[in-house]
Amino acid sequence: MIKIKNLHKNFGMLQVIKGINLHVKSGEVVCIIGPSGSGKSTVLRCINKLEVPSSGTIEVDGYDIMDKQTNINKVRTEAGMVFQQFNLFPHMTILENVTLGPLKVRNMSKGDANALGLKLLDKVGLKEKAINFPDQLSGGQKQRVAIARSLALQPKVILFDEPTSALDPELVGEVLDVMQKLAKEGMTMIVVTHEMGFAKEVADRVIFIDEGVIQEEGSPQEFFSNPKNPRLKDFLGKVV
Ligand code: ADP
Ligand code: MG
Repeated sequence: MIKIKNLHKNFGMLQVIKGINLHVKSGEVVCIIGPSGSGKSTVLRCINKLEVPSSGTIEVDGYDIMDKQTNINKVRTEAGMVFQQFNLFPHMTILENVTLGPLKVRNMSKGDANALGLKLLDKVGLKEKAINFPDQLSGGQKQRVAIARSLALQPKVILFDEPTSALDPELVGEVLDVMQKLAKEGMTMIVVTHEMGFAKEVADRVIFIDEGVIQEEGSPQEFFSNPKNPRLKDFLGKVV
């Protein structure tokens, strides 16, 4: 589903990503962990070209994102993104937030979009909030709406960038539960997270990025029980 080869990204003189290779198969859940500033968000943002890679190649479901012929909007519909800050439109109802994509991007009829929107709100446990506005919801509820909105475009993969980092601790679980449900249903997911419990339980593979390179990767079992890289050991010592 995703093939990243020898990705480099510089911001001016700053080399942020220094040769990352990553393949993600359909249905796989990959968790990315690593210290702040190590380049995790930049990798995610390169996948749907919110940042333009400095060099290397990225394929999303067969589309070469660097190819000028590739319709990048098409790639962005295939690779949905969920951010730390939920980025809902404050002046639109919850249902309108979810149906905007299907109406504008998928050219769905209003009736079909509303039916899909309500189905997805039901899936994230928020059907009863359809006609509320974002500021009437808790952070955890807003993030679940953001997930429903992302699903509304029927993406092939969802990129999560620290989806629970902005939430009060008691609201983290409800969002992780929705994500775990998606994973079980076979959604392909790349999740940047500090939630080690989620990574252990849900990930097929865990990746540790530090200083713009993948320092270690493995199944959750080997990754957490037998970390080899000294930086990873140090990192796990601080967060777990
Ligand atoms: P992480 O998500 O792991 O915390 P980021 O990918 O956000 O790290 O950032 C990696 C580095 O790139 C940081 O030093 C950050 O300041 C820098 N960076 C990120 N985006 C930009 C940008 N648009 N312009 C300049 N520097 C950036
Ligand atoms: Mg980040």
